[in-house]
Amino acid sequence: MEKTLAIIKPDAVARGLTGDILKRIEAAGLSIRAIRKLHLTRAQAELFYAVHKARPFYADLCKYMTSGPVVVAVLAAEGAIAKWRELMGATDPAKAAPGTIRREFGQNIEANATHGSDAPETAGQEIAFFFSGMEILS
Ligand code: ATP
Ligand code: MG
Repeated sequence: MEKTLAIIKPDAVARGLTGDILKRIEAAGLSIRAIRKLHLTRAQAELFYAVHKARPFYADLCKYMTSGPVVVAVLAAEGAIAKWRELMGATDPAKAAPGTIRREFGQNIEANATHGSDAPETAGQEIAFFFSGMEILS
């Protein structure tokens, strides 16, 4: 079973969308193997998004990701990484397909409601960033 990391971002948590998003996750056949609500520090956000350090939106992104609590979860399914990204839709909510989470709940290209890992290697790193092995159901 493949695993991926999902984050319900601050804008979605603040607007009370956590339940709606978790419902879509479970309805799509993604199993929640670990879950926690937390408020990222600036240092943690900078580390998590270090891959985007050179991008012009990096500072804004880190500020936004620390603007309120997030919900982080480990999702499992056959092809979980692609499945979760398909459910989220394109990065820019305006370009995301109808019915996707970002199209329905995202506000703009930055405040786009959710995060998903993009490959097996990054999924492993991102899951380990938030959860220890014993916190994740196998
Ligand atoms: P995520 O990694 O959050 O799942 P993604 O893989 O679809 O999103 P990335 O290119 O990895 O997109 O960008 C990471 C995040 O940075 C985006 O989800 C969004 O919040 C923000 N972002 C991406 N592009 C822009 C942009 N042009 N302007 C502002 N913020 C952006
Ligand atoms: Mg990404």
